[in-house]
Amino acid sequence: MNTSLALAGNPNSGKTTLFNMLTGGRQHVGNYPGVTVEKKQGLCKSEFGLFDIVDLPGTYSLTAYSLEEVVARDFLVNDNPAMVINIVDASNLERNLYLSVQFMEMGIPVCIALNMMDVAQKRGIEIDTEKLSSLLKQPVVPIIAREGKGREELLKAVAGVIPKTSDPLQISYGQDLDTALGEMEEIIRNAAFLSQYPNPHWVALKYLENDSQIMEMGTKHDEQTALKLETIVEKLKVHMANTLDTHPEAVIADHRYGYVNAVLKQGVVKFNQDESRIQISDKIDNVLTDRFFGPVLMIAMLLGLYQFTFSFSDIPVGWLESFFGWLSEVVSQMLPEGHLKS
Ligand code: GDP
Ligand code: MG
Repeated sequence: MNTSLALAGNPNSGKTTLFNMLTGGRQHVGNYPGVTVEKKQGLCKSEFGLFDIVDLPGTYSLTAYSLEEVVARDFLVNDNPAMVINIVDASNLERNLYLSVQFMEMGIPVCIALNMMDVAQKRGIEIDTEKLSSLLKQPVVPIIAREGKGREELLKAVAGVIPKTSDPLQISYGQDLDTALGEMEEIIRNAAFLSQYPNPHWVALKYLENDSQIMEMGTKHDEQTALKLETIVEKLKVHMANTLDTHPEAVIADHRYGYVNAVLKQGVVKFNQDESRIQISDKIDNVLTDRFFGPVLMIAMLLGLYQFTFSFSDIPVGWLESFFGWLSEVVSQMLPEGHLKS
């Protein structure tokens, strides 16, 4: 049997381009079960093996806020692909890795295809892929999908990961959430609650994220356990609203970004932009965004525009009038006498 791989990433990260590069454009298009989201499947032949590749819908997250997110997640849970090829836009690392973190929390092996390396380079972004790989504990392969660059390297890395499993990533969500997560995990583990999902920690996180799909499933599956979990979540929500004026979902998103930033700050990304260009644009910015000069300049520009419109508009209006006067004369000389001319 061929190894099944899921191709996932943010919208516009180059997923379709990479899919075509891997499968040669030959594909089977259908729908995901029960929904009208398009499902593309293709076969990838390589010296490293045969891979069935499914193109997941482009998403920024894996919560249940949109149909695409639910479809992507359901596929990962139900069809159990050997791994995810996570295409990441190198020129937009922080936002793209937010999704990668969520695959890693599911405990699915991930191979990061770092795409748009040409764009990153043009913007002066230099990425230490080896460092990124060792910090994330997942392979990272630079590619330029549009130019077909990096196919062999990517497939080699994929084949190298296949037999392995991946420990779910556990990041700290702060004391309040971590305590609640710990309690919930134990309940989930002991009751074998929603055991079709990747791991107890993940199910607990989904409850804290107020994930409607998982919570409905939980209630159907085991109402008593679901109620216990919901009670813990409710208590935490009230506590957080009173003490920090926030809610668990916001804290979870903050910590995921915190994790990504902590990784990126360890020397993964360097900006070696053209010094002179930065200096000039910084200098202009300094003046334009100055507390005092900024608004003064804006008012001066608006006044100038106003003044210009009223004082100098006569001149171009005069030009237009004389142009049309000339035009009408020329036309009336050319046209014969009659209705059209009058
Ligand atoms: P999807 O929304 O993730 O399926 O993204 P697409 O595959 O449709 O790609 C979005 C755009 O990015 C297209 O215009 C591609 O040609 C372009 N693109 C894809 N890969 C690269 C790349 O490596 N470098 C550059 N410069 N552009 C790319
Ligand atoms: Mg696409």
